[in-house]
Amino acid sequence: MKIGQYLRENKFSISFEFFPPKTPEAEEELFQTIRSLRKLNPTFVSVTYGAGGSTRDRTRRVVERIHRETDLTVMAHLTCIAHTKEELLDILKEYKNIGIENLLALRGDIPANMPDFKPPDGACKHAEELVRFIRENFGDWFSIGVASYPEGHPESPNIEWEIKYFKRKVQAGADFSITQMFFENEYYYRFIDLCQKEGIDIPIVPGIMPITNFRQVQKFASMCGADIPQRLIDKLEPYADKPEETLKIGVEYATEQCLDLLKKGVPGLHFYTLNKSKATLMVYENIKDAIKA
Ligand code: FAD
Repeated sequence: MKIGQYLRENKFSISFEFFPPKTPEAEEELFQTIRSLRKLNPTFVSVTYGAGGSTRDRTRRVVERIHRETDLTVMAHLTCIAHTKEELLDILKEYKNIGIENLLALRGDIPANMPDFKPPDGACKHAEELVRFIRENFGDWFSIGVASYPEGHPESPNIEWEIKYFKRKVQAGADFSITQMFFENEYYYRFIDLCQKEGIDIPIVPGIMPITNFRQVQKFASMCGADIPQRLIDKLEPYADKPEETLKIGVEYATEQCLDLLKKGVPGLHFYTLNKSKATLMVYENIKDAIKA
């Protein structure tokens, strides 16, 4: 199933994002999570790709295992900044050969522990180039998603810049987009509004992170430029060392966010699961009637 086409038919999508585990034990835990979330009948699941290509084999293995062992549609993330075009071609051919039809095309970041790293000669320097490269070499075999940033990517000087380069990824052949996590829906609504004004008409699925660990999410949010509203910080901070309380507050907050997004008619919801099912299952339980409605 091609995700872009599914979304274009105005079907509502639920999806879950995983990262490739480092150990066989963690991989088994991930497959336990996948079995629990399978009950929610997701439209697709996705597997991230490590910065600088560090998880090339692990991402491929997990993508292939999900594809082979389950009936789930799986989307492989692929970052281009650290790969030569030849390497990208090899990876893409491998995915095509095993029947993977959905990709999230990303630039990625230079790994923090490799400050002297330089992209190889001829590398795709932006996601736009990767999207074009995939279309040139594989036509319509892959449905291609791209990242979007309702609050602006940390490198973008302003939101107009953000929209300008987002539009170029769409013009290069992206079918749909998934947003960076955000905790204030107004950013998403403003972004959609600006995209519509620019004639960007691909489905843009909001990315939701139910908070289960306050310190960890503070770190993620500051890295990716997502604002955590003060009212949410005030709720979470006193319970920063109490996982059960944090989970309760995080689930309540994500539920409110999702219900509001559903009311506004979003094309889907993409959950950043961090390879755990509990918080996502709890949010889903709270919103399932609204999804059906
Ligand atoms: P781009 O679209 O290339 O944009 C990066 C910046 O460059 C933006 O500021 C943009 O405005 C600017 N820009 C774009 N084109 C040009 C141009 N031609 N000239 C000048 N400036 C330009 N990272 C991973 O390592 N692995 C993952 O699996 C992963 N999954 C992700 C999933 C989602 C849903 C999201 C939202 C992000 C994900 N990321 C992942 C993070 C992502 O790799 C980083 O945010 C990265 O810094 C930017 O990637 P991009 O594809 O958005 O880049």
